[in-house]
Amino acid sequence: MESLRVELITVGHELLTGSTVNTNASWIGMSLSKLGLTLSRITVVDDRVDEICSSLNEAISRKSSFIIFVGGLGPTHDDITLEAIAKCIGKKLVLNKDALHMIREYYRERKLKLRMTKERLKMAMLPEGSIPLRNRKGTAPGIQLGIDNSLVFCLPGVPREMRSIFNTSIKKIIIERIGTIYRERKLVLIEGIPESSLAPFIRKLQKSYPEAYVKSHPKGYHEGISRLVLELDMRASDKEKLERRLEEMISTIKDYIKNKGGNLKVIGE
Ligand code: ATP
Repeated sequence: MESLRVELITVGHELLTGSTVNTNASWIGMSLSKLGLTLSRITVVDDRVDEICSSLNEAISRKSSFIIFVGGLGPTHDDITLEAIAKCIGKKLVLNKDALHMIREYYRERKLKLRMTKERLKMAMLPEGSIPLRNRKGTAPGIQLGIDNSLVFCLPGVPREMRSIFNTSIKKIIIERIGTIYRERKLVLIEGIPESSLAPFIRKLQKSYPEAYVKSHPKGYHEGISRLVLELDMRASDKEKLERRLEEMISTIKDYIKNKGGNLKVIGE
């Protein structure tokens, strides 16, 4: 299975000072996992054109298939994500009629008699070539924009707006591009063999099953017996193959642990 590179860039001064916890990052990480993708990198940058631009250039230079920006799409002066992206790629910010329509519709549906001020219009000014993504939970639309070979998405920072646009638009776009990727996860409790003794075996296991993510979580000692949980997370585009490989992997682990005199139990998914 071809592995795609996905990067997340979260924008916001409050994320750097620690006054806002970056819950959007963990939510997006988990949501992508459910689609069979794993984030390669999460970056946090200040609301500054140079920082946003260098983070974009770096993600593009790493040949990311998808780059997701979150934050800084609102009407205030410090919401500069789109301006920074446009400057960075040498495009203009232009009034997008579809985005303007989405904003007007949002106000109309809520019977908000709001004039189209400069600040509200700002949310419809998108880098040339952008496609707006409807925001059903707030005003600023998300955007989709192809830059070189990367597909860039920008989402508002407000968590419920970000989640709504991700679920209603981005998920579909990603699935259309990558197809369905199946995922199986198992947690295996191993008793009687400490992590340090198991390490060479885990290394070999990972090499034999490159499509899996293998991670040991030590749980200390219980009545003098070491305990650890081995996490196995496997993905494949072929469901039957995935199930077969995972079963094979677990039986390899079982044989090894038995041979070494330990105990093993699959405890969860
Ligand atoms: P707005 O229209 O509200 O200005 P925006 O896209 O400009 O939306 P921000 O101004 O960056 O978003 O953030 C709006 C709110 O969402 C803030 O309260 C901020 O703390 C919160 N927020 C922003 N980024 C994150 C994040 N990564 N995780 C959790 N909350 C976040």
